[in-house]
Amino acid sequence: MVIEKIKESRFTPDVFDITTFGTAFADHMLLSWYKDGKWSEPIIKPYGKLDFTPAISVGHYGQGIFEGMKAYKGETGDVYLFRPDKNLERLNKSAERLDMPQIPEEIFMDGLKALIDLDRQWVPSTYGMSLYLRPVMFATEEAITARSSNEYLFAILTAVAPNYYNKPLSVKVADRYSRAANGGVGFAKAAGNYAGSFYPTHLAREEGYDQVIWTDDATHTFIEEAGTMNVFVRINDKLITAPTSERILDGVTRRSMIELAKAEGIDVEVRKVTVEEMHTAHKNGQLKEVFGVGTAVVVNNYVAVGYASERLELEDLPETESYGKILKKKLVDLQMGISEDPFGWRLKVEENLVEA
Ligand SMILES: *Cc1c(COP(=O)(O)O)cnc(C)c1O
Repeated sequence: MVIEKIKESRFTPDVFDITTFGTAFADHMLLSWYKDGKWSEPIIKPYGKLDFTPAISVGHYGQGIFEGMKAYKGETGDVYLFRPDKNLERLNKSAERLDMPQIPEEIFMDGLKALIDLDRQWVPSTYGMSLYLRPVMFATEEAITARSSNEYLFAILTAVAPNYYNKPLSVKVADRYSRAANGGVGFAKAAGNYAGSFYPTHLAREEGYDQVIWTDDATHTFIEEAGTMNVFVRINDKLITAPTSERILDGVTRRSMIELAKAEGIDVEVRKVTVEEMHTAHKNGQLKEVFGVGTAVVVNNYVAVGYASERLELEDLPETESYGKILKKKLVDLQMGISEDPFGWRLKVEENLVEA
């Protein structure tokens, strides 16, 4: 690995005061280029611009995939990653589906650790805050030929993540648009999945909702995901989440929540759940919670679900009663090194991995 350190850090303590997500980039970035069938030796250098022409292949045909992860700082100052092996696994699944090259484990893991070690002062230690990590790969060949690119860039960027918002969100059940279809790329963290979701989300906003609850593309009767998060529905004291499929992204937070819920003795069912079941439960006063889960916001308890012309209001349960809030605290405590880690999910980032 080549390390080119920034001459003067851009870090100031007020970078942690930000309130918007994804714009406060730390000092360094990691880059590796794929050409002639192999990846270049990764380089860590100051975050900044790159040179491309408008013929860059990703801009035309969309071969672009990414991951979302976080680095956490505990009270002792130690910095941790959370289940990074799962992100590497998923990145390579996405790469396969988009006909892009696999990322070797050394580039991903060693690169990630070295980058975080170098920028460890950018990892906030305030409870609930973190440094967001964005591994990304896209097609860089200067060619507008409609075929898989022969050249790619793998990069890791890092940005300070603000304290996860507790702004109550409402979601609209999709009855016309779809995020994913069978045989498509829904299970991959592909840039195009996001591109296709922005317009329906925009329409939901015009109706007063923040996000869309995606349903199956064929019938719009099964609940699949919420915005860019996996979704849990609580009916009475049972937590239900859809099984992952070729249309549903296999979220690391979802998996972890299922295991944490089981450890808490909460009744969790992984099975298909229909919009109608949720609607009926609401009518009968049995719909206790609906929440989205994902790395960025951890858990989002929804205050309302829009279904056809109805708006199903949900009660804001207190910290001690809401499964979403209880599990969120369990997860964040584990990620930040506050609680024990019986699952072996936490990975400490060793210091001085990078020679001065
Ligand atoms: C990233 C993502 C998630 C959440 O995955 P995590 O690994 O928990 O962050 C869920 N759904 C979609 C569509 C996503 O892109």
